[in-house]
This record gives sequence, C-alpha cells and structure tokens, in this order.
Amino acid sequence: MTHPDLHLLIDGRQLCGEGRRTRPVVNPASGEILGEVPLASSADLDRALEAAQRSWPAWRALGPQQRGNLLRKAGELLRERSEAIARLATVEEGKTLAEARLELIIAAETFEWYAEEGRRAYGRVLPQRASGMRMTVVKEPVGPVAGFAPWNFPLGNPARKLGSALAAGCTVIVKAAEETPGCALAIAQALVDAGVPAGVIAVVFGVPAEVSGHLLASPVIRAVSFTGSVPVGKQLAALAAAGMKRTTMELGGHAPVLVFDDVDVEAVLDLAVAAKFRNAGQICVSPTRFYVHEAIYEKFAAGFAARARSWPVGNGLDEGVKMGPLAHARRPQAVASLIDEAIGAGAKRLAGGAPMAGKGFFYQPTVLGDVPEAARIMNEEPFGPVAVLGRFGSFDEAIAKANRLPYGLAAYAFTQNARRVNLIGEQVESGMLGINSFTIAVPEAPFGGVKESGYGSEEGIEGLDACLVTKFITES
Ligand code: NAD
Repeated sequence: MTHPDLHLLIDGRQLCGEGRRTRPVVNPASGEILGEVPLASSADLDRALEAAQRSWPAWRALGPQQRGNLLRKAGELLRERSEAIARLATVEEGKTLAEARLELIIAAETFEWYAEEGRRAYGRVLPQRASGMRMTVVKEPVGPVAGFAPWNFPLGNPARKLGSALAAGCTVIVKAAEETPGCALAIAQALVDAGVPAGVIAVVFGVPAEVSGHLLASPVIRAVSFTGSVPVGKQLAALAAAGMKRTTMELGGHAPVLVFDDVDVEAVLDLAVAAKFRNAGQICVSPTRFYVHEAIYEKFAAGFAARARSWPVGNGLDEGVKMGPLAHARRPQAVASLIDEAIGAGAKRLAGGAPMAGKGFFYQPTVLGDVPEAARIMNEEPFGPVAVLGRFGSFDEAIAKANRLPYGLAAYAFTQNARRVNLIGEQVESGMLGINSFTIAVPEAPFGGVKESGYGSEEGIEGLDACLVTKFITES
C-alpha cells in the first residue's frame, strides 16, 4: 500500500514542498519511513488564520440543518472508506486493525452525533418583567477554534475537534499529530468531499510549540481545545489566558481500578487485560493502578500475569495480534525508565518488563505487583503497556488510594454490592467512572477530567457548548 500524499490543508489548498521544513513519518511496527510531513511556517499559519476569519460569517449563516447535512455526509464517506482509513491508522500509529476499524466508526458517529446535536443549540425565553418586554438567552458560535489533536487516536481526536466546532458554526484549525498526519488528512478529506467550504477547516502540522504559540497569540482564535499531557496543557492554558480565550483541556490520567472481593475474578481479568493492553496502553483513560482487595489479590495478580505473558503482540495488520508497538521512538524509553525505576524501588516483576528485540517500537505487556506508592510509575502517567498492582483492605483505604493523585480523568470499580456502587459514585474524584465496565467513551457522553486532568468536556452536549457563547438580549 502506498502512503497517501502528506500536505497541509489550508484554505482549500493542499500545500507541501516550496521550501517547507519536513519531518519523517515512521511506521512504528517496522521503523520504515512512510513519507515526509510538511511543517507549517508562520506564513502558512497566518494564511490559515485569515481563511478561518474570512470563512466564519458564511459558515455561521448556513445554519445548523445545512451544516448537519454536510457532517452527516462526511460520516457516510468515512464509513465507505473505512477499510483504507483503518489500515492507515494501523500503519501510522501501530494499533491493531480491529481497534482502528472501531475508532473509524466512532469518528463517523461523532460527525453524525454533532450533525443532529447542532440543531439543539437552544437558548431560552425568560419570564418578562413588564408587559411588552422580552428577555431571551441565545447561543452563538464562539468563532474560529484552534484544536490540538495527539497521535494516540489519530482518527477520533481530529474528528472530535472538527465535529464540535463545525456543528456549532465555528471555523476550525486543527494542529494534528506529526506522527499520524495521513489519518487527520483522511478525516478532513471526508469533510471536504462532503462539501464543507474551503477555508472553514484547516489541518496543519508543525513544530508543536511554534504552532500553538502562533495560533494562540492571534486575536482571530476565540477558543482552544487541547488533548495531550498535563505539562503541555498548562502551557497552552497560560497562553490562552493571555488572550482570555475559552479552553477545553483534555489532559493526562492515571486511572485507578478498584477490584472488590465479591467479583468473578476471571471475568474481571478478561475485561481488564484487554482494556489495559488496548493501543498498548497509550490511552489517557487506560486502566493503570489496579487496587485489588487483599482477599483476592494473589489470584488476580497471577491471572493478570499469565494472560499478559501470552498476549499476542505484533504488527497490528496481522491476524490474531491484540497489541501493536508503541507509537513512536520516544515511547519505549519513556516506559522503560518508569518500569526500571519501579523494580528498583521494590516492585515485583510479574510479567514482561523489557523492550522487545527486533524492528519497531515494541515493549512487552508488563505487570508489576506490590508497587510502592512512592515509585514514579504510581505517580506519573506511564502511557504504555504496563499494569501496576497494589492491595487494599478497607473501602476507605481503596477510595483514598484512588484519589491520592492530582489526576482525575477516568476511574473504574468492580463490585456487585449496590450500596458500595453508590458510595464509589459519590467519593471517587474523576470526570468519568466505569462501574463493572471499561466502556466510557461514546460520542453522546461528555469526555473530560477534573483536578489536573483538565477542564471542560468533549463530546456530548458539553462538547457542543464548548464552541458556543451565551448572549442575553432584552427588548422593550
Ligand atoms: P509530548 O508531550 O511530546 O506530546 C504529546 C502531544 O502534545 C503531541 O500530540 C504533541 O504534538 C503535543 N504537543 C507537545 N508540545 C506542544 C505544544 N507546545 N503545543 C501544542 N502541542 C504540543 O509527548 P509524547 O511522547 O508524544 O506523548 C506522551 C505523553 O503525552 C503521554 O505521557 C501523555 O501524557 C500525553 N498524551 C496524552 C494524550 C491524551 O489522550 N490525553 C494523547 C497523547 C499523548
């Protein structure tokens, strides 16, 4: 399969060459160079900003029904192109083809959800204070949005940034990940082919800090949506604050999983191991710290390790593979340094614990037992295929452990006790909570965190609202 042309998409034009800097795009399963992605210059970014500003009034005036028709059509095109686009995601990012296919369907669903939800950007009419008077609250598009989409969901992340802004009547510039440019361009192409006018969307790549610095300094950009790490999120939030821009920050997590002693251990393990090694653990809501009741800890740990040792790792395009490589060359080293430090601090290596020999950026599915709370891996997001296990005795201890970090993105709990379920719902500090389930991301539900995991939500009615401003109008 030849790799698609890689370009910047600005004002309806596909730009590459012309002296632009480039960066190689690498297949993480083989190390093979797939192509060169052009990096935007300041002039390119100015062009995207000018187009976003110029195209906004007509896009806004088009109205939600027409915008919805275009989004729905783009969703259809994604479904028609699903096999080719899913393969692209596997080749650029490394995830298995099955995961890539599912991600593509969710990207299509995201457009379809926003196509409908855009028609429900309701305001309200307030009771009048005097005869002949009218007081209304209306929702309006915030204006041109800058979205920053990382590589771990190379289809889903750009679709979220684009879908919400477009449905609300905003123009949008997406800086997509340089590691997975073909995927972001395939998502944008579906919108272009559906009829979204030139200038309404732009997809750029570049030196990340240069692009964010340039876009966020511009008065054209009215809102910022970033998905990525906590440190970068804080930098971008500070840049946005200087221009008082609205922000949605979907940052890192360190999800706790509380496993109580009333569960079917084997059934929970089947779900937990698949969830942990999905996308080689490179998911912000990946289950990471497994706190297991001491009565079932040994059985749980042994079962997790046995499954991890036989988990099929390989090229995501190959049949039967359930975990691919890490997404880029920096990741194996980053994961290894956390795992090595934890073992040095006294954690037990129950499975894996080393990079895999050969080509590509593979790391073994890893399970660490009795990990000291002070180990870095218990405190920093590992973003890799490693489960860290610890024990608890009482309910209060489990909750305290779940809440001990500054992160608050996702959390999970497994128990059959209904009263305990209610208390967990009350007491766990997280933006999303899965009870007896790891399924927490669907287009109709808000996706976002609390504490240092960020603020605001993507998807759901909250995702649309992030691209709207509220205006109060009084008439008499
Ligand atoms: P990284 O910090 O270099 O990059 C993470 C993402 O942020 C990339 O998409 C990158 O392009 C972007 N980025 C970095 N600096 C930026 C800047 N100044 N302005 C705008 N965008 C910027 O790290 P990495 O090795 O690529 O990824 C690993 C870390 O990133 C993980 O530990 C994880 O915390 C985080 N991450 C989080 C998510 C998520 O879904 N929340 C996704 C991908 C990566």
